[in-house]
Amino acid sequence: MRILRTVVVPLLAVAACSAPPDRPQPAAPAGVPQLGTFGVDLGGMDRTVPPGDDFYAYVNGNWTKRTAIPPDRSRYNSFSVLDERARARERAIVEEAAAAAEASGDRKKIGDCYRAYMDAAAIDAKGLAPAQPDLDAIGALADKQALARLLGGTLRADVDLLNSTNWYTDRLFGLWVAPHLFKPAICAPYLVQGGLGLPERDYYLEGGGMATIRTQYAAYIAKVLTLAQVADAEAKAARIVGLETAIARVHATGEDTNDVKKGANVWRLAEFASKAPGLDWAAWAAGAGLPQQDEFIVWKPAAVAGIAALVASEPLDTWKEYLLWHALDRSAPLLPKAFADAHFAFHGTVLNGTPQQPDRWKRAVAAVDGALGEAVGRIYVERHFSAATKARADAMVRDLLAAFGARIDALPWMSAQTKARAKQKLAGMQIGMGYPDHWRDYGALEVRADDALGNAQRAGLFEYRRNVQKLGAPPDRGEWYLLPHEVNALNVPIENRLIFPAAILEPPFFDPAADDAVNYGAIGAVIGHEISHSYDSSGALFDEHGKLENWWTPDDLAKFEAAGAALAAQFDAYRPFPDLAVNGKLTLGENIADVAGLATAIDAYRLSQRGRPGQALEGFTPEQRLFLGFAQVWRSKAREPALRNQLKTNVHAPGEYRALTVRNQDAWYTAFAVQKDMKLFLPPEQRVKVW
Ligand SMILES: [Zn+2]
Repeated sequence: MRILRTVVVPLLAVAACSAPPDRPQPAAPAGVPQLGTFGVDLGGMDRTVPPGDDFYAYVNGNWTKRTAIPPDRSRYNSFSVLDERARARERAIVEEAAAAAEASGDRKKIGDCYRAYMDAAAIDAKGLAPAQPDLDAIGALADKQALARLLGGTLRADVDLLNSTNWYTDRLFGLWVAPHLFKPAICAPYLVQGGLGLPERDYYLEGGGMATIRTQYAAYIAKVLTLAQVADAEAKAARIVGLETAIARVHATGEDTNDVKKGANVWRLAEFASKAPGLDWAAWAAGAGLPQQDEFIVWKPAAVAGIAALVASEPLDTWKEYLLWHALDRSAPLLPKAFADAHFAFHGTVLNGTPQQPDRWKRAVAAVDGALGEAVGRIYVERHFSAATKARADAMVRDLLAAFGARIDALPWMSAQTKARAKQKLAGMQIGMGYPDHWRDYGALEVRADDALGNAQRAGLFEYRRNVQKLGAPPDRGEWYLLPHEVNALNVPIENRLIFPAAILEPPFFDPAADDAVNYGAIGAVIGHEISHSYDSSGALFDEHGKLENWWTPDDLAKFEAAGAALAAQFDAYRPFPDLAVNGKLTLGENIADVAGLATAIDAYRLSQRGRPGQALEGFTPEQRLFLGFAQVWRSKAREPALRNQLKTNVHAPGEYRALTVRNQDAWYTAFAVQKDMKLFLPPEQRVKVW
């Protein structure tokens, strides 16, 4: 589980970056500023708001008033600030590679990939030709068996169920390769529902604003089909939306998809024909290059069965129209300008409210990341990540682990038996800091300086084959599922492992020059959050080896689940729109990690001071500064469609509400003298203390 799910426009299903549409993209900032005199942007606070009434506004109110979301973004937050910085650095790296006449190896590939994307004139001149082989293959489908084979052949490793929680794929099914839930010594294929062009099932099934979006979606389909000179575009668009609506009806909800226990279904390939009749699964497996794969983990069996039934019940011609549409939609950013603009107008503006398409260089850098991310990351960390920062961050993680262990020891509600297992899990946790120990080999990936769409397609296939090769083999516990220049952090629950990329170890998250208290509230709480994911509502289901096994006594588990239910109710009560609330159940794992992460950061800070009395800085006590650092990290603004999209699809609550989790910490009440009559006040028995 990540600290945040960044959302990226699906360029094509490349690497692990397919997600519901949106595109966070940067403008170049200068330098790495320390905020204020001790790490907090005091000018961004609104001290007219009592902290106990609205702590988020107290810390970030003036920032909110004076900050406009850049026109090429759907949201703007502390993560975006670092993202802009990292992207500007990345631009320098790829442009240098593109300009180097005698570059070779990965650097040549980086340069060629970037140049191909940047050459808009060449892309325009080629018209639809780069997509034609795919369109022809769809046009040639003669029967449902050929359809099944093509559906297998276009399967990509484009979802991630437990690490990045990217469940979305516009392909009919998504594949994730990860350690087997019940046999963690080998990697297994996880098969999950897909096939929707809109972000989530509710976009098809609800009325109101969703009905408007559906009408705009149908118009967008018709427009792209017309651009591609496909006849009867409007009638086809209506049939495509009809088929996708039928798929949406059999889709599981986000809450169910987020439920590991509901996902843990092992099917043998031979059982698919009886458990999910309608699709020729033997032809599908042959197309996917998986005819010998015995076991699959079928994440949402009812959805997989429902989709297979639709393959049988719906006419072949409708499926061909649907596949043609998705081939065009997926390729559109790399087709002539009219296609790319139409794609942005829908995915960027309609679905996320972003008015302006990001500059071409930003899109090109994202394409290079999708194809050759670790090759770029390797150069990035050589230039922008010091051994001193790594050592300091490693020390902080050791601190936070020690504090978390002490919290387990002190838990009043947990039996000694469960505590011993929880401590074993903590002892076995592996930490990746800054960058991976070994780098991905891109030797087999062909990149051409004149083939932008082909590069993205080959990268998607390269990533698929790289993943399929892992099947049946022991997992590589050194592999990274984030890039070093991604602004995020990750818990890999099946591997009991944490990952902290170089790009998040910068202000306002981490600044060696800033006040310790602020660092503990910011990066300390992030580290604590990731540790806690091993013990959240999903992570707690895995033992110290990453096996899905109940290590809890029944009584302890009941208490843990009751605390989770209370936290879910707390977040259900937050209502960004009159008609749409935060989903407490969908976001529960993240909210548990926030509560426990912050509590651990407070303890770790106290341990680090070794009893020294803290001094006030600009009128703030050390513990006040810790909470300011925490809430500052969660400053965020979003356009309405993007916020609605997030509330429907994202396991993370909006930043504003994540900051309010301070209400569950006794230390916050003391630090800010929060009284009973204040809006955020919770009586002690209602403060959720999970760990
Ligand atoms: Zn998280």
